[in-house]
Amino acid sequence: MLRQPHPIVPLSLPSNLPDPDQQPTTTRTSLPISPAHPSVINLSLDAVTAAQERDPKIRNIIDRIRDGKNESNFVLHDNILYCLVSKNSRATRSHVPYIPPSMVPAVLETFHDHPLSSHFGVRRTLYKIKPRAWWPNMQRGIENHIASCHQCAHHRTCRKKIPGHLKSIEPPNDVFQVIHLDFWDPVRSSKQGNQYVLVLTDNLSKYVIAQALPNNTVKATAEVIINNFILVHGVPERIITDNGVHFNNALVKVITSAMNINHAFSASYHPQTNGQVERFNATFSTQLAKYCNEDHDDWDDNLQSVLYAYNTGIHATTGFTPYELAFGRKQNRPFDPIAPTITIPATGDFYNRLIRTRKILINHSPENIQRQQQRAKHRYDQHRKTTSYSIGDYVFVKVCTGRIKLDERWIDPCCIVDKSGE
Ligand SMILES: [Zn+2]
Repeated sequence: MLRQPHPIVPLSLPSNLPDPDQQPTTTRTSLPISPAHPSVINLSLDAVTAAQERDPKIRNIIDRIRDGKNESNFVLHDNILYCLVSKNSRATRSHVPYIPPSMVPAVLETFHDHPLSSHFGVRRTLYKIKPRAWWPNMQRGIENHIASCHQCAHHRTCRKKIPGHLKSIEPPNDVFQVIHLDFWDPVRSSKQGNQYVLVLTDNLSKYVIAQALPNNTVKATAEVIINNFILVHGVPERIITDNGVHFNNALVKVITSAMNINHAFSASYHPQTNGQVERFNATFSTQLAKYCNEDHDDWDDNLQSVLYAYNTGIHATTGFTPYELAFGRKQNRPFDPIAPTITIPATGDFYNRLIRTRKILINHSPENIQRQQQRAKHRYDQHRKTTSYSIGDYVFVKVCTGRIKLDERWIDPCCIVDKSGE
């Protein structure tokens, strides 16, 4: 279970901070950081004393010290039990108050959740608490506190490789049946007010349709899919995205109601098969960057020409140009010399030739794709754990769409209610 964040009154620093290197004095003060608002977080030494008195385990140690028994790890000063802790590798030991279990949450909130502590990780939090407080299994306590922190969970960046092996999907039988949808967000919005690029990639031909957009809403996405894809190439059978289920459902709904159709194509959330879109994004962002002005705000001026170069260039995965696979013909490029004569074939001849060419291209393409997919899978799966989820498991869902830099990276734990594939 995650702890929900709650407001914490900013701490104020007391002017008379005790020096942890010195023996405790009889001056009543507080832990080095003390709260401005005692009812919110009270880490004063009076509060520590009171809490220690209520804790049987601590009281027992205090009694043993008072009876002259050996408690070499603790000292009692001014009725407060301190623990002697080693400082780094040095032999000298400093003393820090023994924090009873009832006060541990307040200490953790102070040194982790508080704005002045800023939700840093285990190492930094431990480093801050160590010279100021001690309790048994302190590191484990800090680890558990951070692992269950709502804020940290929602903004965590995954530096580890995300577990799970790459899932390759069967290449479809024809072009424009399965398309991948993704957004690319450049660092800067353009002079024309565009902030995103919607990228649609055909799974079989790798033909890419891209459109610069001022936002990445469902409505804007649906408009591009209708105008640039469906009204040109037909309705796809499946759209694969790494957007959440909500986005996908809303997208299908907007498209079907805008076109007044019942055709229920599916939009599935499948981040691990969207690799090819990511590859295109990496390629074209590098290419676009080469044409940008110094302010990097004219990237959308060159988007379509970079796209053209991509679609008419050979694709490593299929072995063909995306255009050739998609349309069954080679294109006359603007640089090609004009043919001296033009032969216009009879319609039937042209159609038969086109069908033959398409057959050859489309038969070869899935083989090439599968071979490349196996290689990509081998590379991706190295040093990655296998994970499997079951219906009823709670998982965090990565925010892929509509997230700007400071937004949460992960959505609240969602319960798995259905599975499509492994
Ligand atoms: Zn946190």
